[in-house]
Amino acid sequence: MSFDHPLPSALSPSRLQDFRACPRRFQYSAVERIPQPATYATTKGRVVHLILEQLYTLEPDARTDDAARSFVESAEAAIVTESVRDDLDADDALLARLRREVHDIIDVYFTMEQPHTVKHLGVELRVNVELDGVPMLGILDRLDRHDDGTLVIVDYKTGSLPNRNYDTQTFANAELYAALCEASMGELPRTIRLLYVAKGETIERHVTEVVVRARAQAAHDAWSRIERFHDAGAFPATPSANTCRFCAYTERCRASGVAVPVRPRTNGL
Ligand code: SF4
Repeated sequence: MSFDHPLPSALSPSRLQDFRACPRRFQYSAVERIPQPATYATTKGRVVHLILEQLYTLEPDARTDDAARSFVESAEAAIVTESVRDDLDADDALLARLRREVHDIIDVYFTMEQPHTVKHLGVELRVNVELDGVPMLGILDRLDRHDDGTLVIVDYKTGSLPNRNYDTQTFANAELYAALCEASMGELPRTIRLLYVAKGETIERHVTEVVVRARAQAAHDAWSRIERFHDAGAFPATPSANTCRFCAYTERCRASGVAVPVRPRTNGL
């Protein structure tokens, strides 16, 4: 048996993360392209990312706190569509909470960076490149040129701070982005900067050639497995309390006979 659906034309770091968590989740998200309902957390993240993207389209001196706030309404209008409202079952109280928390994040963000001093090469930068034979597509939140001349990958995070015992996981995507930058621009970013804009904390890591090679090799190995599963017509499900807890496909999986652990449901808030 093989799939009616072709493989995606390119592998993104987030879909690769799906595959690592559970190959069946990759099947649903990247091969069958079954939409994942919006959650409060993803919606807030998308609104904040859009505001910061728009802020950095302005000339340095215009990147003020007021300018960021002036984008809130239009960003909400673009992201919180009718179908997102349905997914969230959003009432006025929830939308008011969203707006309040977005403004809180803008407050915090301006304590973390001085946007008028930032020298960036691009925001929402699409990097489409073949990496060790794997067609890859990544979208970087921001790529900066540091004062010392090196490149810095900047990634905005609107969620909680990570458990520092899991740094390898925390930086895995950004390190893959670094590999993509090197493959497409011929220059390896030397720093990854994760900005936890809801918490006011920045976590940085130096990028090494060794780690970037390992990320590229891991993407290559994963793509080989993806091709094999696709040819065989079956992406195995690997249910566990942790991976299934944040998965949008639990009902679909259960209906196909997968023993998905029961989780307490919180409607994504
Ligand atoms: S519900 Fe669990 S087993 Fe099913 S796709 Fe999601 S992570 Fe995999």
